Amino acid sequence: MEEFLEHFKERTRSEQRWLCEVFEGVRQQLYPLISSSVGLSVEQLTLSVLSKVQRAAGSEVASLPVSYRFVSLSELTRQQHTPCCSSLTWSSAQYREQARRALPNYRALARDNILLMGYLYDGPAAGASDGGWWVRDAGGAVSCRLVKSSPLWLGRLMLFPTWNYIPQNAPAGGGYLELIDPPVCVTPEAMTFDPGGSLTEAMSVKRAAELLKQRCDAQVCVSGQVSVISPLLLISGRRFFCLILSEGDSAAPVLITEGKHQYWRQCVCVGQYICISAMRVCSLRGWAGHHVLSVTAQSRLHPHVQTQESSEDPEKHLMDTDSHAPDTHMTSHTASCSTTSVRKKHSTLISYKGLITKVLHAEAGLYEIDGKVGLCLAYQPLQERGGGLRPGAEIQLHNVHFLYRPSPFAPDVVLCACLCSSAQVTAFSPLSSKVEVCGSHSPLQRHLLEKNLGVSQYLWLCYCQRVITERLCPRWVREERVCVVAGRLLDCVCDAEQKTDRKRDIYREMLQEPHQCPVTTYCVSWPCVVLWSVRHLCDWMSSEVWSSLSLSSLVSPAAAHMTCAELNACLSWSVHSVRLTAAHSQPLMLVGVLELSSTHATLQIKDQTQTLDCVCVQTDQSGATTNSNISTAWLGKPMTSLLCCLVCVQRCTLVMERLMKTNFPSWKHLDQPNYITHKHCRLYLQFCVSDLIIISPSAAMSISLMEKKRDQTDGREADQKRDRRDEGDDDPLRSACVSLVFRLNSKQGVMFRNTSVSADAHTLQMGFTATVSCLGDVQLWNNDPKNRRIQTSETDGRETTDVSVLKAESISARGGVKLLSNPALLMKHQWRLHTLTHMEQLLDTQSDVGAVMSVSKVLHSSSTSEIVSFYGVISQRITLQEEMGTKPSIQSVTATKDSSVVEEGLKIRLTVQDSESAGHMIQVYVDLSCGPYTPGLLQGATVILQDFHRKVSKACNVYCRSLPISCVSVTGLGSVSSGSGGSQSPPPMMLLGEWASGRTQQCIVGQVKGHIVCVLSLRLQWMCSLCGSTFRQGSCSRGQPPCDSSCGVFQAEAKVAVEDGSGEALVWFSSDTVSELLMLDVGQWEGLQRHVRVKGHVRVYTRGHSMMCDVDPEEPLVQFLCCLCSSNTVCRQIKLTCRLRAQRTGKCQLRKVCRGPTEFISKFPPAPQLQCLEIQTDTH
Ligand SMILES: [Zn+2]
Ligand SMILES: [Zn+2]
Repeated sequence: MEEFLEHFKERTRSEQRWLCEVFEGVRQQLYPLISSSVGLSVEQLTLSVLSKVQRAAGSEVASLPVSYRFVSLSELTRQQHTPCCSSLTWSSAQYREQARRALPNYRALARDNILLMGYLYDGPAAGASDGGWWVRDAGGAVSCRLVKSSPLWLGRLMLFPTWNYIPQNAPAGGGYLELIDPPVCVTPEAMTFDPGGSLTEAMSVKRAAELLKQRCDAQVCVSGQVSVISPLLLISGRRFFCLILSEGDSAAPVLITEGKHQYWRQCVCVGQYICISAMRVCSLRGWAGHHVLSVTAQSRLHPHVQTQESSEDPEKHLMDTDSHAPDTHMTSHTASCSTTSVRKKHSTLISYKGLITKVLHAEAGLYEIDGKVGLCLAYQPLQERGGGLRPGAEIQLHNVHFLYRPSPFAPDVVLCACLCSSAQVTAFSPLSSKVEVCGSHSPLQRHLLEKNLGVSQYLWLCYCQRVITERLCPRWVREERVCVVAGRLLDCVCDAEQKTDRKRDIYREMLQEPHQCPVTTYCVSWPCVVLWSVRHLCDWMSSEVWSSLSLSSLVSPAAAHMTCAELNACLSWSVHSVRLTAAHSQPLMLVGVLELSSTHATLQIKDQTQTLDCVCVQTDQSGATTNSNISTAWLGKPMTSLLCCLVCVQRCTLVMERLMKTNFPSWKHLDQPNYITHKHCRLYLQFCVSDLIIISPSAAMSISLMEKKRDQTDGREADQKRDRRDEGDDDPLRSACVSLVFRLNSKQGVMFRNTSVSADAHTLQMGFTATVSCLGDVQLWNNDPKNRRIQTSETDGRETTDVSVLKAESISARGGVKLLSNPALLMKHQWRLHTLTHMEQLLDTQSDVGAVMSVSKVLHSSSTSEIVSFYGVISQRITLQEEMGTKPSIQSVTATKDSSVVEEGLKIRLTVQDSESAGHMIQVYVDLSCGPYTPGLLQGATVILQDFHRKVSKACNVYCRSLPISCVSVTGLGSVSSGSGGSQSPPPMMLLGEWASGRTQQCIVGQVKGHIVCVLSLRLQWMCSLCGSTFRQGSCSRGQPPCDSSCGVFQAEAKVAVEDGSGEALVWFSSDTVSELLMLDVGQWEGLQRHVRVKGHVRVYTRGHSMMCDVDPEEPLVQFLCCLCSSNTVCRQIKLTCRLRAQRTGKCQLRKVCRGPTEFISKFPPAPQLQCLEIQTDTH
């Protein structure tokens, strides 16, 4: 040391201290590794180091770069936890210039002053060559990357003037160095480089290519231009890479398998002229019939300097995507794919140079270049892209595939690297960025390899993986399972034929001409299925529900004749439904978990973004449902096992119910939305079980699936462990439990009930009651048996373990009074319910489930009990007027997050049609305010109405009312496409005599073809739309109290006698059908209304054989009406659709009938009273 300091006597103390530190560092870290052939002492080495440092720093001999501290590699990796850069050569201005290059959202690397030196080797330790460059000193080794390197550097002590250090939190290593400036050799050239063969013997590529055709055993030296470099591959423990030397049309593939030559991969680049000596010709097992040049241990690599700058400039290969007209690409090379509409295209190989602007998905190998071009490195092995590919880095790509619109989820232009492509960083990024740590093979890449995915499919898989991670991980899908789930979804969107079955052939991919690899062809913008989150779907529906609202289309043509109250009732509820496929221009898919909402008693689909209600039915048919289905109405067997399943929905209907409060004075004001005082909506999905794709089954389902496969064994415990795989949450029933097997006999509707929480405290809670029969006694288990196949001991009552836990007891009602009916159990929160899958036989033999009737049976059976259960198809839904002054005691809790939105006292009237015979229908009054809102009560839906009160009106019409115990379940979905649905079969043709007799089961609605005998009465009037008084000359006639309404509506009613030969009927026509009855066109009808306006009211009726009017019989209007009504224009053949006004069958009448000269007295059933619903224009 003293000897060394002798040279620096004149230096300051601080400089001397710095010199000592450098000397110590060299002695400890660098000197031990120096080759003895160099023959230097520590002192000489340190002096050599100092001279290189000073030269690099550009400082005169006078000054020393004392601000730079000597740091060993182990210190660097240990202490440096943030990315940094250091440069001996840069001035502060230069550094600032670097920093200015920063992309938006990125900062430049922090600057540190470190003196870094070490030996360059091709592995972290002696004999551990891995094909990459490493910097080593006595204490450690750090992986490094260079923009350009030379084989002459191997084993030399280097000074690194400018470099970045990027620490990585990977468990394997500390980080890596990006060597920006070429390293400076510290030691003098120890020896002349041994070429290992004379360069003059080097043969051209053309000759080598000929040589490859016939085998030759001699060692050859070949020089040529590198046209292809493969990435470094590691296959079954062997590391190797290939390159192709070209000259004109000739090409010679070279295989580098020698471990000690693999660092050459870093020393060559495409376009460079090189010479490799001592190669052998050999055949390749994996590439039958072809010979390649193989590098031997004696081979040497010579960069062929003299021709480097020659004609074939690598830059000439470069292409700019802007000049690459996409249109020509679209049209050319389009191979038609016969079976599907998926367009396939051939990609072209290009070279490209650009700046990495973003890491799109490090794990998937997806990057963005120049802000617009995508780069996919997934088809290359991982180590190729470990370092250097950071935002801000310049990258040079050779032989990459140019793809135009391979996927809607990637940039329009994607460059995809395969095994013949090389991606090299040409300038390291000066920016500090989050370091993406890549482990070994990512699951995505493994999936790519295992399934031989095309690039379009792979890009979709990456998209899918990203959205599942966002929306379902970690709550329902564990991180390590995300890719499995994404793979299953990919299977859902791809047909089997779209998959590439071709295994990848690495040698062919790397070496064969013309080039063939999985990226050669790709699908254009396919798969294009978009995965919407539940929130996205909800948002879309929320905006669609109101943007689709057209008030005038909600009301029928009869709206013109409706009073204010009638009109607003019409508008109070409407529905808009859209198929999922119609919601977006691209196919949509929804992925979520099905769960039951305990607070809303509905099925819901959810992900981490939001929750959406669902109506799920078992079959698509909207027809009759058999009783066996109804017996499992708890939820239906398949449905209970659906719970907690991860499902994918592609076919479903988005239903948007609108509930509005309006006060439109008349239909003329419908264009003024300010008359809408309140509006909210109900959004939900409707789908069939069969339309669901189960991506990840619930525990319950996997058990039942497994049970199908295997016979029952006693291995319950063993199975249990296996089934827990997919179960996300911790099951509290891992420990011992008791069970009770029961059969569900009936269940009631969900509603608010008084529940006792303690001895004298009661709260309103939502709940429902079910009656069950116990099939056996309480059983004790070590583990929850779940819905596994039932054991005989569970049903026959033997082996009873008296645990006295499940003792049925009477539930105390209000005021401590016990209900002394049947014993009852109150479900406790911690109880679990499982549907047993093998209970069919038991159920069928012992079933005494209450019969579910058809609509016509409810209508006509005289013996039916007052409480009925029946099924049918909804043909109409009407919101009933709120009864004034009666505030509902209970408010319906809504599913929307806005708690202020409640349907107060919502009562509806459903017209339920018999699902077999269209002529039978019943009105059902449902009070929706005492329970959770029931979605799915739409026109066309098949419903089961359980425990409804059957009543008969004064007019003998049968109708039903809901009771607190009533339950409505939707079991079939209506036709969705029509929106309003209701395209049921037309009502049957009816003979009036038959309809009058009441012998057969009367239809409520039927078609009649007959003759109008006479118009019995016709009433035309203008009514105040608010109060219903006569409206005369533009104002309401009501005086006490005065009504200032200025809105009148015209109404008409006609009562007509119709006969069809078999009998007679009285038919009522209301406003909109009267004009048709009178055969008036629009102009005439409006003229008539104008005439009536003067008096406000006119009525003509038949007395004897003529028509008359009580007032002003001479008035022209009256005369016209009388004349019109008795004319042949009106009294004509007519075809009508009618509804029975009253089902009353009164006493028969005795009537005189004349046939020629004879008179008969005959008994006639009373004429049926019908309401005309529609006049068919066909009067034939
Ligand atoms: Zn390729
Ligand atoms: Zn009025």
